[in-house]
Amino acid sequence: MKEYHQQWDLDAIFPGGSDSVELTTYVANIELRISELHQHVQNFVFPKIPEQTKELREVIDHAQEAAKRLKEFSAFISCLSAQDVKDKQAQMWVSKRTELSAKYNNIQTEFDQKLVQIDSSTWKALMLESELSELAFVLDERREKAKDKLDLEQETLINNLAVDGYHGWGQLYDTLVGRMSLPYKGEKLSVGQAANKLSDSDRTIRKEVFNNWQLAWQEESDVFTETLNHLAGFRLQTYKHRGWDNPLKEPLSYNRMSEKTLKAMWDTITKYKSYYTKFLKEKAEWIGIDKLSIYDVDAPIGNVERKMEYTEGARFIVEQFERFSPLMASFARKAFEKRWIEAEDRPGKRPGGFCTSFPHSKETRIFMTYSGTLSNIATLAHELGHAYHQHVMNDLPIYNQSYAMNVAETASTFAEMIVADAAVKSVADPKEKLLLLEDKIQRSVAFFMNIHSRYLFEIRFYNERKAGKVSTERLNELMVEAQEEAYQDSLSEYDPTFWASKLHFHITGVPFYNFPYTFGYLFSLGIYAKAAKEGHAFEKKYIALLQDTGVMNVEDLAKKHLGVDLEDTEFWEEALKLCTADVEEFIELSSTLKQRSE
Ligand SMILES: [Zn+2]
Repeated sequence: MKEYHQQWDLDAIFPGGSDSVELTTYVANIELRISELHQHVQNFVFPKIPEQTKELREVIDHAQEAAKRLKEFSAFISCLSAQDVKDKQAQMWVSKRTELSAKYNNIQTEFDQKLVQIDSSTWKALMLESELSELAFVLDERREKAKDKLDLEQETLINNLAVDGYHGWGQLYDTLVGRMSLPYKGEKLSVGQAANKLSDSDRTIRKEVFNNWQLAWQEESDVFTETLNHLAGFRLQTYKHRGWDNPLKEPLSYNRMSEKTLKAMWDTITKYKSYYTKFLKEKAEWIGIDKLSIYDVDAPIGNVERKMEYTEGARFIVEQFERFSPLMASFARKAFEKRWIEAEDRPGKRPGGFCTSFPHSKETRIFMTYSGTLSNIATLAHELGHAYHQHVMNDLPIYNQSYAMNVAETASTFAEMIVADAAVKSVADPKEKLLLLEDKIQRSVAFFMNIHSRYLFEIRFYNERKAGKVSTERLNELMVEAQEEAYQDSLSEYDPTFWASKLHFHITGVPFYNFPYTFGYLFSLGIYAKAAKEGHAFEKKYIALLQDTGVMNVEDLAKKHLGVDLEDTEFWEEALKLCTADVEEFIELSSTLKQRSE
């Protein structure tokens, strides 16, 4: 059996790593293209149809070509800085990337403002022209978004002030967290180290770290009250000037979904929460306590012994994909053979995993550290799912290849579910099966309870913040209330300073960095349910769905490809039943095992 190589091949994209001559030339070409694009946008005048339709398409194509190369460059830099955190030259390229992206975005904004100035009837006619119709959704969306904002001068002013205001608060948060440390057994732990210890398998360690964790965040909470209040204040003030009243307006439009859909999703989750409170109770018994504390929720209840060598794991993934989609399986095989994956377990690598795509060379790279656990295999499948999503979109126009966070996790979760399910089914030993099921259900608990608490906190906080600054005490109170509600009072202890310790509340790039996760999870489960029913016949439909993720709102996407209404609870019910079936199996297996040991 041929062994797969565990190091990726980056030279196939630009030879020579961060010192690559080809890379330097490529970036110089992007700079040239960006300044040419700026000329084109500045020279662009209101189009007359049909004389200037072609001209407009040409400007758009210039923009798309620049965007494609910028993405290619950006992806390469992400790979370089992940494989070696000490690569100084790569750090320099990161700054270059920030500079070029900002330039490109400013030109886009200028261009969008020009689109706004085209009157509605001309615009409608334009979008029907053959040169533009394939891009109509994205162009329409951009024009509408630009219309919703202030004029160019004011938006530019906001963007400029945001650097030292809005984003400044976010950066200050990062700096402050980076400086924090907490005591543990005579040592000092960084926040990241402590966070890892919070899911240690030893409860006494978790408990001690959690107590110190609470003290550390409480001590700094007055400062974080400032950062969070100012960051949110800046956002709300901007919304007010634009005439936006609902704090969900921006995140919903970014995720191309309606508030009705969001409500249908949370309502259905709430309806099924009793399964998860039962699960947490059962889990508490395995840990040997009455009620779990919040720091027990993610803790393992035992160790899964089984491991697979890299090549064995790779073959397992390909085999499972094959059952659902031969095309996805052959794509995964190609990724292993062509060394698109960096999986080697060695020092100096960045932690975590990601997938990044190269739209120009139409290749993908996956980054992770593989040590042979079943959870590693699930991660690898997850990243291959992301890669496959990009793969099926490769031949679409660049403008049509962008999809939001909520559907970004669709293909990845789908691929992960295929493999996680198969892993559970492949073990015969009941205790091992129980551990794998527990690992699987933990995902649901995270999406339905933890993320729900973040969402509840954030929406309430933003609404209160409209009336003025929210105090530290009130933030703690809002946080615990949200957790009690999301976990349905099933825990003995909550985390009042979670609003300070969770980075996601302080991110300025994307507002409400929470509900899209849950959406993506359940959406992909709904698809998984359909795929399991329809077998190989589903493959074509699945590809068509993925290809449309960049050109439709989620309601239309679901209606067209799945024949379901996301604003109705039925679809969400179907998806949830898949999750609750795991809980039922877990509880049954758990009681059998307990009887045996009595
Ligand atoms: Zn992902």
